[in-house]
Amino acid sequence: MTSLVNTFLTSKVAAWCGIPQATPLLRPAGETQSISGHVLICGKASEHSELLRQHLQTLAGLVLDNSSANPLQAILFDGIGLQTTAELDLILEQVQPALRRLAKNGRVLVLARAIEDVANAETAAATAALSGFVRSLAKELGIFGTTANLLVVHQGVQQSLIPAVEFFLSKASAYVSGQVVPVRHAKLSGICDWIQPLSGKIALVTGASRGIGAAVAATLSRQGATVVGVDVAQTEQQLAALMAGLKGKSLALDISQHNSADVLSDWLTEQGIILDILVHNAGITRDKLFYKMSGQHWQQTLDVNLRAVQRIDQRLMQSNQIQPQGRVVLLSSMNGLAGQKGQTNYASSKAALVGYCQFMAKQHKNGITFNAVAPGFIETQMTAVMPMLPREIGRRLNSLHQAGLPEDVAQAVAFFARPDAAGLNGVVLRVCGQCFIGA
Ligand code: NAD
Repeated sequence: MTSLVNTFLTSKVAAWCGIPQATPLLRPAGETQSISGHVLICGKASEHSELLRQHLQTLAGLVLDNSSANPLQAILFDGIGLQTTAELDLILEQVQPALRRLAKNGRVLVLARAIEDVANAETAAATAALSGFVRSLAKELGIFGTTANLLVVHQGVQQSLIPAVEFFLSKASAYVSGQVVPVRHAKLSGICDWIQPLSGKIALVTGASRGIGAAVAATLSRQGATVVGVDVAQTEQQLAALMAGLKGKSLALDISQHNSADVLSDWLTEQGIILDILVHNAGITRDKLFYKMSGQHWQQTLDVNLRAVQRIDQRLMQSNQIQPQGRVVLLSSMNGLAGQKGQTNYASSKAALVGYCQFMAKQHKNGITFNAVAPGFIETQMTAVMPMLPREIGRRLNSLHQAGLPEDVAQAVAFFARPDAAGLNGVVLRVCGQCFIGA
């Protein structure tokens, strides 16, 4: 009730102050991924847009647009073949008129070549222009609940582009906007079914009893995975009930304890489990200005958010308890990337996870991918305890003018967890509605 009143009051105050009102976001209603309606593919045709055209045609409910009358759900601009800066006019000629037909909660997705793959300065300039275009357009369209994102397509990429295109065109990416995401070549044995792409997989999620962790567990389960939830002993009953509801398993474990990785490894052995997906979600904040911060708050935060992750990965990889082609997903944070007053400990741990993730991704040991999700302001118990004013500001300081939901983060985690998402490795994806702060 309080939150209802707060939301009502603060939205009225925001309206009086001339702060834009958000468009409610359309999120998946139980379905795995979904794109329906008319999609326009434009730009400079390349083998990639041809491949996507063929693939998208096979998806039920989606119509490739070839008229100029229908309302559009998405615009896919292929900029991979752009060679000259003169060709940038294609954006104006093709995307601008199409935007007039784009529905609320629409999607603009641009494909670009990687700068390191271009042959000359002119092409480099034309290619780089696309990121400025997308980031700016995302800021203009956010008020309509519409997102704009850019996929940087590295040399040799073919099929591995498909999962990324599906995610960014679908409702699953409702709170992801203004992002530039690299996709690399990877050998795939096939493209996952849209319905339950994680079927037959076993996933472990830390901090699964509430908030983002609970949403991740539920989403992975809905997408076909069997989930093991881990959380501290104080949450044991709640965790057990949640996992029972998902037909999964639960383990009460404080991951910050020095022997937690061994305990976890032994438990997995007893259960006969080898993981396909490992989601390091558990995290804490212990906010204080740095000059007043106690050693205990510094250490606790780094122990849970960072050192436990390192220890668990090292132990499980050493004992081959993560399957080849496994997926590890880490929860970083926009505050980790941008820095936040009172959060030197938290931001250090979350920035550290990015460096760790990118290094581990390069190792590519056994084909295991490492990706990170950096949420912005997400409505959970962690953010509910913030004072009202910073909380309200936090909610609105992004292009979509609203906070995200745990489910938004969960959808991004599930995307990285897909078996066919092998072309995404070392990516840090911000699920923040294009937060106005941060690098
Ligand atoms: P939350 O506080 O609601 O949930 C965190 C969960 O982790 C809890 O269930 C808690 O019991 C568990 N946990 C804490 N310490 C643990 C330990 N030592 N061992 C095992 N489990 C432990 O937090 P949330 O908002 O759901 O956040 C989840 C993750 O997302 C965190 O890593 C957080 O830093 C990150 N994140 C959240 C936001 C946000 O806006 N909510 C933004 C950026 C990043």
